[in-house]
Amino acid sequence: MSWQSLIPSEVVELCQVLQTAGYAAFVVGGAVRDLLRSPHRAAAKDFDVATSAAPHEVVRVFGNKRTIPTGLQHGTVTVLTRPGGGPGGAVEITTFRGEGEYLDGRRPKEVRFIGDLVEDLRRRDFTINAMAYDPVGQTLHDPFGGQDDLRAGVIRAVGDARLRFSEDGLRLLRAVRFAAQLGFDIDPATRAAFSPTLPTLTKVSRERVREELLRLLAAPVPSRGLVQMFDWDESQALVPGGLASVALPQVEAVLLQQPRGAARRWLLAIDALSSPIERLLAVLWPLRGAPPKSERTWLTELDAELKLSTSDRLRLARALLLPDVQYEVNTPWLPVAVRRWMAQHDEQAIADFLRVEQAIAQQSDDSSRHQGLLALGQAVAEVQAQGAVLRVAQLAVSGQDLMAALSLPAGRWLGACLRELLSDVIDEPHRNRRDWLVARAQEIVPALMAEK
Ligand code: ATP
Ligand code: MG
Repeated sequence: MSWQSLIPSEVVELCQVLQTAGYAAFVVGGAVRDLLRSPHRAAAKDFDVATSAAPHEVVRVFGNKRTIPTGLQHGTVTVLTRPGGGPGGAVEITTFRGEGEYLDGRRPKEVRFIGDLVEDLRRRDFTINAMAYDPVGQTLHDPFGGQDDLRAGVIRAVGDARLRFSEDGLRLLRAVRFAAQLGFDIDPATRAAFSPTLPTLTKVSRERVREELLRLLAAPVPSRGLVQMFDWDESQALVPGGLASVALPQVEAVLLQQPRGAARRWLLAIDALSSPIERLLAVLWPLRGAPPKSERTWLTELDAELKLSTSDRLRLARALLLPDVQYEVNTPWLPVAVRRWMAQHDEQAIADFLRVEQAIAQQSDDSSRHQGLLALGQAVAEVQAQGAVLRVAQLAVSGQDLMAALSLPAGRWLGACLRELLSDVIDEPHRNRRDWLVARAQEIVPALMAEK
């Protein structure tokens, strides 16, 4: 096997330097997995190196100038492959992890190194992530059948799955994330270890849960992983107690109340959406109105649960808050009703609402609902193409204009007047002319002033 051309020459050199200094050095983990899967795609990713050299020895071999003691407590030293490092300019070198007692001095060095390598690989999560490649000697080490599992498309824990998940609950989420990313199945024994080890997942920080969830949602077919986050009975009905009961407890609770099949359709609807943020919105969609929440409550909950950016939180909250609508192809809304609806809600929220609801209706074989939502989307697009006035800021007069035209100081009347004018223009778009708007303002302002 020769991957010489696919492994960056700096990485080969680092291994060469370590080996010349008397240490073992291998490319390990994700890079080896991805080289075996699709060599060309792997070329772009991080290459991690495992070595027999202790961290201080790695620093000594490469010198202080080229090394950063990034994670000495984990045995990791970052070595710069070009000045300043930067993306692709640095390699993480981690000292073999293993039981100290294994490092017995009686066997020849070569044999010992391989023993230590196997101990290091044994501590990795899944067989497909537990392979090592020596880019100098050009040999692959695969003690746990990673290649077979890669060919068969299986995520299998290294060793006893229950034990491995008990050690680290993050591995449960990594299993479903890899299943989605790679389109793999989870080995039955590994899958069976989910429920007895579920309590370890509660110890994983919200940030890590969120990170894994977002990576899963960025996969080509997220339902491949999401489906494994739930438990199903023999008739494929949702039952409580899956990973989701810890990772997405509110969503699981609502789905359990829904009619048979709803959860499956929800999963497929998520696949049908394209961006991770839309998919995340669809994940949260079952929570709409159950129970009803204010925008502020949504923002707080989305903050605590998902640690999203402010603009993403706002986007999700607004879409989740948009009330449901009925739109029949045979009895379409009048254009004015479409404009009014659009004027009441955020433009992005409307787009998000339509996309998610369309995806769900499509999976539900509810063709009249699906057709209706498509037609509503078309009506919205027409209004947008006409450049219809839907916001006060788009009116042909500003607040300043009105104050000047009516010789009045600013006051509460002004906002009320602008809203009234907007409503008039939404009714009849051709009214959006300065003369018409000023005349209309003169007509309605006395009443607005009297209102107080
Ligand atoms: P990618 O970076 O493409 O998501 P990766 O396999 O490189 O995949 P990393 O999180 O970068 O994943 O981890 C590198 C390697 O470290 C893994 O391939 C695996 O061997 C090991 N590893 C990472 N996290 C764990 C864990 N929680 N338990 C055991 N081994 C792990
Ligand atoms: Mg990685």
